[in-house]
Parts: sequence; structure tokens; C-alpha cells
Amino acid sequence: AQQRYASIRDTDCVTEDGHRIELMMNAGLMADLPSLPTSGAQGVGLFRTELQFLTRNKVPKRGELATLYSGVMDAAGDKPVVFRTLDIGSDKVLPYMKATEEPNPALGWRAIRVGLDKKGVMRMQLQALLRAANGRPLRVMFPFVAQMEEFLEARAHLLNEVHREKSLGHALPESLSVGSMLETPSMAFAPRKFFEEADFISIGGNDLKQFFFAADRENERVRRRYDTLNVSYLSLLDKIVSRCAETKTPVSFCGEDAGRPVEALCFAAMGLRCLSMRPASIGPVKNMLLKADLGEVRRVIETAREAGDQTVRPAVMDYLRAR
Ligand code: PEP
Ligand code: MG
Repeated sequence: AQQRYASIRDTDCVTEDGHRIELMMNAGLMADLPSLPTSGAQGVGLFRTELQFLTRNKVPKRGELATLYSGVMDAAGDKPVVFRTLDIGSDKVLPYMKATEEPNPALGWRAIRVGLDKKGVMRMQLQALLRAANGRPLRVMFPFVAQMEEFLEARAHLLNEVHREKSLGHALPESLSVGSMLETPSMAFAPRKFFEEADFISIGGNDLKQFFFAADRENERVRRRYDTLNVSYLSLLDKIVSRCAETKTPVSFCGEDAGRPVEALCFAAMGLRCLSMRPASIGPVKNMLLKADLGEVRRVIETAREAGDQTVRPAVMDYLRAR
């Protein structure tokens, strides 16, 4: 499939009506990095750090992690990499973490909640990231932030580690950019301060959609009931995009839906200018966007909303077929 899109691999992703869309890839292993040049991605918009924790029978050592993260940055060269701190719990259970039985793990003790309650592992991971950067720019993102204070607290821990590294005489990152996932509906309504404080925001559509519709992302039966192009969900995205615009906070979308061409087209029409997806999706999404007139798609979406459609998908598909 990658072959089919080889001719547009090095083409800038600019829509027909002149909007530049940044296309990034998601990764989680060193083995994913060769896809950076072959897919034409402009960077790694989401590096999930869970795998190194999930595939071992004990917590990985700081040195091992630093070596891995450094290797990822080496492989990316000048292209940016956003490292997301450990997002465990829910569907990602660590074999060596005493599983406290939870009736609703997706709503339970997971991700940043674990990090803030048991700081040892998070601190160790932050140290590994700082050491890996070793004078290069570092981008860190916190998962599953559900209220502003969690982001501020996690960032304070990171800044503490920066001071500690400095006092130990280690090289600091050339620059530090600290962002937040936005994957619970609560954050669309967070105080303005959250949007001001975050250096960037990435919408985690897999979780955001599951919590918005109260439909388990792992449960096919209920998951499929709710279209990503449902007008209520698009209104939520609209809200997030405009709140980020108010504070000029860079915003991207990194859930699986960003890799689906029709969804990606609608997200771009809603104002998203950065999409992060699995590498194999970059070609198909770019192919769609290069031919797109976002102004027209936006009008199609608005017309469908005003007409009372539940999802804008049929209207957008009709529009695409007629073009
Ligand atoms: C998401 O929730 O959309 C996301 C990108 O994170 P994950 O799939 O790892 O939960
Ligand atoms: Mg998520």
C-alpha cells in the first residue's frame, strides 16, 4: 500500500484551498522509526511508552529507557518526537503491578492517576527522557489528564527533575515543551489557564469518543453505534479547536480516527492542522487532503448540522462522490 502513495510521499500536505496540514506518525517501538522516512511523516506526534513496560516482568531500568528514547531521537534526526509518559491501567495492565481489581478499569486508576499517586516510576521515566535528550529539544506529553491540576502537578514533577539533573551536572534539553492529551470531555471545559499553560494539546480520540458517548472502545457492539462524524462529537471537537485557538495553543489529533481519510478530511475542515496516525495511513490521508477544499467541506458539514442530521457522514460522502 505504501508503494501506491510513493509519488506523494515528499509532497507537502497543502489542501486545494491552501491549508497546510501537518501529518505525523504514531509509534511505540524503535522498530517503528524506519517508517518515518518511508511514510513521509513530519515527525512522531505520539510515541506511546507503554510497550517497554508491558513486555517485561519487572519495571525497566532508567538506563535502558534512556538508551531507547535516545535511539528514537537519533532515528528521528531533525524531526520532532512527542513522548507520552506511561499510560497504564485500563486495557494496558502491567503483569508486575499488583492488579487491584477494579469494576471499571477504563474509569479507574490509570495513566497520570497512577503516576501522580506513585511517583517513583513517573520520576524515573522523566529522568530517562531528560537524559535521552541530552542537549536536544525534548517534547513530553501527559496522558489522561481529566482536570487542570493533574497537568500542572505532573509538569511540576518534570521541572523538579530538570532542576535535579542540573544540580547533578547533567546536560539539560535544549528546549522543553510540555503538553497534555485531551481525552476526557471534561478538558474541553477546563479553565482558560489550562490552555495557556499547556505548550501543546493532542486530542486522544480513542478515549475521548468512548467517554463522550459512554461506549467502551473495546466493545464492538456499542462502539460502532456512534459515528465519529456524529454532530455532537464534531461540536465537541469544534469547541476544543476554538479554545486552543483563543490561546494560540497548538493542537493535534492523535487517535485512530485521524488515520481514516474521510474523518481526517472532516477534522481538517473543523480547523485541525496537525494529525498523527499509524504510518500506513499517511499516504491515504494525504491523498485525500491534497484534493480537498476545506471551505467547501466545512459548508457541507454545517448544512448537514442545520438540517438536523445525526451524522454528517452521508452528506460528506455524497459531496465526495459528486466531485
Ligand atoms: C487515544 O486515546 O486516542 C490515544 C491516542 O491514546 P491510546 O489509544 O493509547 O489510549
Ligand atoms: Mg488514550
